[in-house]
Amino acid sequence: MMRTIEIGTARSTAPGTTKGFLKVGDLPDGQPIRIPVVIVRGEADGPVAWMHGCVHGNEYCGTFIIHELIRSLEPKTLKGTVVALPILNITAFETKQRMSPFEGYNGGDLNRCFPGQANGPLTQQMAHAIYQPLKEYADVLLDFHTALTRDVAWALYADLPGDIGARGRGIARAFGYRSTLPAPGDILGGSAMMTAAKDGIPAFIVEAGGKGPAFSDEIVADATERLRNVLRHLGMLEGPVTDYGAQWHFSNFAWVHATQGGLFQRSVACGDRVEAGQAIGQYYDLHGHPSGEARAPESGIVLAIHPGPVMSSGETLIHIGLNPREVHA
Ligand SMILES: [Zn+2]
Repeated sequence: MMRTIEIGTARSTAPGTTKGFLKVGDLPDGQPIRIPVVIVRGEADGPVAWMHGCVHGNEYCGTFIIHELIRSLEPKTLKGTVVALPILNITAFETKQRMSPFEGYNGGDLNRCFPGQANGPLTQQMAHAIYQPLKEYADVLLDFHTALTRDVAWALYADLPGDIGARGRGIARAFGYRSTLPAPGDILGGSAMMTAAKDGIPAFIVEAGGKGPAFSDEIVADATERLRNVLRHLGMLEGPVTDYGAQWHFSNFAWVHATQGGLFQRSVACGDRVEAGQAIGQYYDLHGHPSGEARAPESGIVLAIHPGPVMSSGETLIHIGLNPREVHA
């Protein structure tokens, strides 16, 4: 007898694919807020890989990656179970924005609300409904995000001491994005990643492509193959594990908000190395005159940069991986 996996209306008791919905709250019209769940259960035993996307509602690339993976899985050749929730914050997904639109006085960032509260504000309630089955069933967590532009390709794992960090590092290695942050336990509080890791579940975040439509079929195909490589590394799919080569591991990241606004053109790409003080983009005023250069506040590797063409002060200017250290297998 296989253990029953029950997430909302998706109830899996045998090999095969089961689909359903998990209720995470109510809309203002009283209708349930329901998020999609797919459980693909292999014929052979193995771990439960939990993967989710759109924890930020306009980060659609991860949804496409997860969809492409689950379309390719066959219970006959899968060891263990893939639990996929491709669209976590469906209220924000509907309105094509990052945060929950129905949140009253709170920020509504679902990825700062885990493990959630059953009687808290809406986004806390959503986090609670999602985190209960995650904690119960997941052996690993794979969380898909995007950043600002199409050329974003980096990853992070919860680098807790001991086994949880070591297993996260193995997953990051198998996914193989060159820019990787071993995230210290004191950052990203309330994220699904850090919350799960502290509950003993190795956890990994992918940042692939940009928000809204800023990603391509190639990014989806490449990331899906890397995700399959993670499943091979975990022993869930057959075949040799690809070695994607050396990685840069960062000590942390700097997330910098713009203190100037205007028309903006960036001059660096994701993956570029920058030195503190280096020009990373040019502002123009409304008459077309150059009105200032944006400069890198720290040295490191560009993880994400504002796409332009217009920016107000306070927007995310650049995200830099600090102190890159080349790591080999
Ligand atoms: Zn995100």
